[in-house]
Amino acid sequence: MQREFERALFWFRRDLRLEDNRGCFQALESSQRVFFLFIFDQNILSSLAREDRRITLIYFLLTQLKRHLEKFKAELLIFQGEPAEIIPRLAKTLQVQCVFTNRDYESYPRKRDQKISQLLEAIEIKFKTFKDQVLFESTEVVKPSPKNSSLQAYTVFTPYKKRFLAKLTSSKTEALRDFSKQTFSLLENNLSLDRTRVKLPGEIVDFENCLAELSFQEDRKLSRFLEQNSPVESLNTFLREKIFSYKTGRDSLYPGQTSRISMFLRFGAISIRRCFRDVLELLENKQIKLEQRESLESWLSELIWREFYSMILQSFPQVEFKAFQPKYQNLPWNFQETLWKAWQNAQTGYPIVDASIRELKETGFMHNRARMITASFLCKDLLHSWQLGEKFFAKYLLDFELSSNNGGWQWAASVGTDAVPYFRVFNPLLQSQRFDPQALYIKNYLPELKDLSPKKIHTLDFRQTNYPLPVVNHAEAKQRAIAFFKS
Ligand code: FAD
Repeated sequence: MQREFERALFWFRRDLRLEDNRGCFQALESSQRVFFLFIFDQNILSSLAREDRRITLIYFLLTQLKRHLEKFKAELLIFQGEPAEIIPRLAKTLQVQCVFTNRDYESYPRKRDQKISQLLEAIEIKFKTFKDQVLFESTEVVKPSPKNSSLQAYTVFTPYKKRFLAKLTSSKTEALRDFSKQTFSLLENNLSLDRTRVKLPGEIVDFENCLAELSFQEDRKLSRFLEQNSPVESLNTFLREKIFSYKTGRDSLYPGQTSRISMFLRFGAISIRRCFRDVLELLENKQIKLEQRESLESWLSELIWREFYSMILQSFPQVEFKAFQPKYQNLPWNFQETLWKAWQNAQTGYPIVDASIRELKETGFMHNRARMITASFLCKDLLHSWQLGEKFFAKYLLDFELSSNNGGWQWAASVGTDAVPYFRVFNPLLQSQRFDPQALYIKNYLPELKDLSPKKIHTLDFRQTNYPLPVVNHAEAKQRAIAFFKS
């Protein structure tokens, strides 16, 4: 069959899977022969600590992707370096006519891709990008407006969600299309191996020693966790065992009742279309009970929150650097080194806050409820800028996603779109009583409190322990926070 291109290159970035990958499918469909590429981008790597766990996660996902491609006798080329140098050079060496990739909406990748597109254009090679990371891009779910007037983005979640669901109903087949089957069948006839090609500068040939070559340490604990919790298995287990009680279970801190797929969605090891398809299919079952239906709808809503924050970042890119609400852009936060250190080092004297920070540092994950509690505590009880907390989470979270992290922090600090009202200050004691009544979460991450009763923990009775005294009195801090925002 005649195709548009004889040779093409597909560049994997944050879509590390073959299943249901739109850009990958498009490359295969329009080209006789497709080569596959991943680049460890030095501009990103150079800002990371050598023990950053995300490199272990990416390595694990690349191993899976490589194996999957090998089943089709296809090779994954892996490079480290500057993408703007590697892509044009490789495209020329492989004599491709087009480079395909899936779109990324953050500021750095946008600029990078624009530059690469121009460099390729100069050597007459096309650059095609596709929507894959989200179900709908920012221009697809907008406020209804008269014809010919400019598109207006939503800034409040509930009407956005309503419109999102309406759009989903009207364009279900296209929006939820599964590209897996056709991709696999096209791969059967694709030949990506080119044994005549010589190794290029920056190419990682010894994949087994990839982490060492990149000078990053493997997090063995994470590797073991991933061996037992592959992306698809994690999603399947959740859909089988937990989703029907998600509404009541989602806030319970220990053991967590949520899907834990955020890190896989972040790196595209699971297709977002697949998540929507699965939950919508479960909702079609007329036999399910009301609570089960509400749980499914609640999970669906969380997926839409992810889309909402992505839409906000696409429509208002300035949120990356400043508060969404102009009136809160120059708040005189009250930075104090000792308080900032206490929060970061899990020494605030509030067990629920300290346990949450330990969970983050030890595992690279933090429960959603814990994220809200710690964020509220930093911004309201300690009156520290949400941007400090945002950066701190970005350093440790395996699922760090600029749009959701930024959205979550601006929400908790009451400065963002559809944020929590400024006078709502989470009470860390009531939160721990309610969402960790037996103090199991707290004891798991603060073993120094393991012999205390939940009551003592929830009332901050730490006599005969070395646990620190509270750095602030919550009741006073709450009044201070309200006065701060009011003024
Ligand atoms: P589930 O409860 O099973 O939800 C399924 C999926 O829906 C998640 O994997 C995620 O993709 C999406 N989702 C769920 N809740 C939210 C939410 N509130 N906002 C946006 N998407 C959501 N999420 C990230 O993916 N990356 C981040 O960097 C991030 N930073 C956050 C920072 C703060 C201060 C707060 C309050 C929230 C943040 N979240 C972030 C949202 C949320 O905490 C995580 O998505 C969730 O805890 C991941 O766990 P899960 O996969 O078990 O989620």
